[in-house]
Amino acid sequence: MSTSASKPCPICRKPRSEQFHPFCSQRCKDRDLARWFSDSYAVPGPPADPEVVASNDWGEQD
Ligand SMILES: [Zn+2]
Repeated sequence: MSTSASKPCPICRKPRSEQFHPFCSQRCKDRDLARWFSDSYAVPGPPADPEVVASNDWGEQD
C-alpha cells in the first residue's frame, strides 16, 4: 500500500514523505502555506472594470 509514492511533492517534485503528506518535508509544507497566504494578500482589489476592458481594442471582437 504505497500508492502515495507514485506522486511527488507538489512543491519541489521530490519523493513525498508520509509524515508530511502530501509534501516531502515540513519546509515544503510551510512553503505551500506561505504561498496560500501570499496569494490572498496579493489580491489588490476588484478585477478590472469590464467596461474599461471592453473599450480597449484587443482585436478579439469582430
Ligand atoms: Zn518538497
